[in-house]
Amino acid sequence: DRFAFKSRASQPSKRDTTQCSQIPSSFTSLGISPPLQAALKSMSIKLPTEVQAACIPPLLAGRDCIGNAKTGSGKTIAFALPILQKLSVDPYGIFALVLTPTRELAFQISEQFAVLGAALNIRTAVVVGGMDMMAQALELGNRPHVVIATPGRIVDHLRSTSGEWDFSRVKFLVLDEADRLLTPTFSQELGYLFNALPRDRQTCLFTATLTPSIETLAEAPPRPGKQMPFIRRM
Ligand code: ADP
Ligand code: MG
Repeated sequence: DRFAFKSRASQPSKRDTTQCSQIPSSFTSLGISPPLQAALKSMSIKLPTEVQAACIPPLLAGRDCIGNAKTGSGKTIAFALPILQKLSVDPYGIFALVLTPTRELAFQISEQFAVLGAALNIRTAVVVGGMDMMAQALELGNRPHVVIATPGRIVDHLRSTSGEWDFSRVKFLVLDEADRLLTPTFSQELGYLFNALPRDRQTCLFTATLTPSIETLAEAPPRPGKQMPFIRRM
């Protein structure tokens, strides 16, 4: 159930990796719905990038995915489109959690969700360090569909929540800039978060750099179910 994509510029993997050998044709052929295509048009985005073409179909099909492509290749939209499209058929509770290492990246991701999801009435919450805890707690209690967070701060909220929200309905976990997240700096927080998330969910990793920890995930033997090995251990 896992699917790993590496852009042609990077080293081909030994196995368990699908290479995208064709230039993608259109968002229609990737299965993107008309409302989201209209949103893409409003952003002047016409054709999918390689990483988008490689990752969107498996993510729409419910598979896990590791997307590896250089900075600026459109990785945000590669996960935002499948999330928004799946969300529109199940708009209940916190549907997706997007983790990213810095608050600047969190706000950038949130902006892309806002533009793409404008017609869908989706609510996002950005939960990052250095901002007011109370205001964030209110946002989390306001039933967001997508939470975009840095690991430390969302764990602070999980630990202190009064039960007004939880992650019990999360269907989609994204580790953006996964190479920077899967380091000792964040390991405690990630362990805590994985325990708080349902096991029945999709997980995807996006990264510009393949680190040994990510290579291990991409090349681990397939297992029953759709969870990746490191998540199983948590
Ligand atoms: P990455 O995460 O891979 O570094 P981003 O997701 O931040 O890249 O995207 C970089 C820029 O490319 C953004 O401004 C985004 O709107 C734009 N972009 C994304 N997908 C496309 C596309 N298919 N065509 C043109 N521009 C795109
Ligand atoms: Mg990015």
